Amino acid sequence: MMSFLLPKPSSTQLRLGIMGGTFDPIHMGHLVTAEEACQQFNLNNVIFMPSGEPPHKDKRDVTAAEHRYLMTMLAVVANPYFTLSRMEIDSGVTSYTVDTVRRFCDLYGGNLKLFFITGADAILDITTWKDYKELLESCSFIATSRPGYSLQKLREVLGSAFTVVMRHIHLLEVPAMAISSTEIRRRVAAGKTIRYLTPRPVEQYIYKNKLYKPLSLD
Ligand code: NAP
Repeated sequence: MMSFLLPKPSSTQLRLGIMGGTFDPIHMGHLVTAEEACQQFNLNNVIFMPSGEPPHKDKRDVTAAEHRYLMTMLAVVANPYFTLSRMEIDSGVTSYTVDTVRRFCDLYGGNLKLFFITGADAILDITTWKDYKELLESCSFIATSRPGYSLQKLREVLGSAFTVVMRHIHLLEVPAMAISSTEIRRRVAAGKTIRYLTPRPVEQYIYKNKLYKPLSLD
């Protein structure tokens, strides 16, 4: 099922960002990243795309897709430049980025300039992603890093592919990415506050649905 919230195809060029992630949960760092990317790259819209079954992850370690989707909706709904899509969640199969990008290219045709926005650490193993060469040719990547992130890590991991891959990747340092989903999950499990790390409705959703609590505390 396609999201009805996607921007309509246009006769002039559309510059769209796909904000891909597990969003378990979404937090202020993601929102600041998307806002920054939208402004710096002059995007018409940023489409948040929660992964259905994230590649390279054990299903059992990830919160149910519907919870992640609803938290993302609560976080982005008020921003006129943000929207979200159920495309990967509803696909029922592992969410490969190249498949998502192909669907966007089919939907919008030649009038599309596509940017895939995600974490710099998420792309460390990009050369193992499905059809990564086609992927790099079909869209530009905006890879966000936390403060102090060193390109050296990418250089070491990518090895000889580094120069080719980096031609398609813009690095964006976002101080607010000091916040992480992992840290939020840990704080909830430990009974610590997560106020101001994620929007208030997301925080309330987490408590209401008892997410991230160790089973023994339920
Ligand atoms: P991850 O391994 O959970 O995240 C790695 C790092 O990137 C974490 O520090 C994470 O911080 C950060 N991050 C993730 N998404 C981000 C975003 N949109 N903006 C800023 N930082 C972000 O990564 P993942 O969520 O599984 O994967 C990220 C995206 O890459 C997803 O769309 C996924 O489908 C895609 N991917 C595709 C393939 C493939 O096609 N074969 C393989 C791997 C990943 P937080 O934990 O705080 O978010």
